[in-house]
Amino acid sequence: MTKKQGIQTICTHVGEIEDTQFKGAVSPIYMSTSYQFDEVDVRRYPRSFNTPNQEGLSKKIAALEHAEAGMIFASGMAAISTTLLAFLKAGDHIVVQNTLYGGTSNFIREQFPKYGIEFSFTKGYEVADFEAEIKANTKVVYIETPSNPMLTITDLKGISDLAKSKGLLTIIDNTFASPVNQNPIDFGIDIVVHSATKYLGGHSDILAGAVACSEAHMREIWSVAKNLGGSLSDFMVWMLERSIKTLVLRVKAQNRNAKKLAKFLANHKDIKEVNYPGLKSHPQYALAKSQMKGFGGMMSFELQEGLDALEFQKALKLIKPSMSLAGVESTMLSPYLTSHGLMSQEERDSIGVTASLIRFSVGIENKEDIIQDIEQALAAVKKKAKQEVL
Ligand SMILES: *Cc1c(COP(=O)(O)O)cnc(C)c1O
Repeated sequence: MTKKQGIQTICTHVGEIEDTQFKGAVSPIYMSTSYQFDEVDVRRYPRSFNTPNQEGLSKKIAALEHAEAGMIFASGMAAISTTLLAFLKAGDHIVVQNTLYGGTSNFIREQFPKYGIEFSFTKGYEVADFEAEIKANTKVVYIETPSNPMLTITDLKGISDLAKSKGLLTIIDNTFASPVNQNPIDFGIDIVVHSATKYLGGHSDILAGAVACSEAHMREIWSVAKNLGGSLSDFMVWMLERSIKTLVLRVKAQNRNAKKLAKFLANHKDIKEVNYPGLKSHPQYALAKSQMKGFGGMMSFELQEGLDALEFQKALKLIKPSMSLAGVESTMLSPYLTSHGLMSQEERDSIGVTASLIRFSVGIENKEDIIQDIEQALAAVKKKAKQEVL
């Protein structure tokens, strides 16, 4: 039934809990950690991921990602770590994309050696780069597209075909695209993970994660999830349900703003390079267009030589230099100091994360105001650069 509904209807209604007692317009919140045995055949308990609010929101996530099942977690990393540990054991090997969210990369590098799980990071993001790393004991291929912070695009169909031909499981981090712009399961990817802290939450006030996949894969994830205990409080589940009601409106506004801002930056003499999949100059524009419905609100760019990226960010007045992304407010940061700070200089250089790279999460403000803020910050940093030369 839900498959036939439009995405805005899914966002607004799927999984809502009817308030039979008072006929309220929104889902009631059930905060109980204790439920009578005879109420359901499965025992309800928050860490079993089966409270009324958890189950309701899981249905919405599943519908949004065209999946059979969904599950909500206490953070994006809880969703990612639980999912990886559900399908990998000692002696197994995973092929991981090189351009990856820093936290995921840290999790793999810091924890997998303890469990005897082998891993290889790819040298690039072409399908052949993944194929080159596959070994006899490879079980999982893990991708992220568009990737953080370089906005590279990985071929969903190509990766899925490769993995299927070798009997491997595919997992994608779909956080940057959001389910509005990209539905990887339609291209044959097995499991979709999200940091719901980003676009799904969208207001920089919820830390959460989500997974969508088949019922069979979800049973395996659930069996590990209940051991690890990364469940989200029902109050926050309810907050996330509320946020997702406006997901399409927010993401479409961010898509529109980002496209205009990417063009503005690409044509600006003080900007050296813009990485945005919606620009025709992006090396994978055609691929992005073939697998995305919108190009998203994330981009990165470099200032021209001699203009200091940190001074530029300090001079911003409307755009907030801050961690995290995908909120309704525009934010910028330097990945080499933050998300990719734990990597070695060599690793950073190999994926293009330089000191002058700025990651830009485009918000829903009026684009003229965002442009004006960038212009005045550029003027300030140029003035400063000139004074230093004198
Ligand atoms: C933020 C983020 C994560 C981690 O999510 P948390 O909610 O912070 O645990 C994973 N992947 C991507 C792409 C992210 O941006």
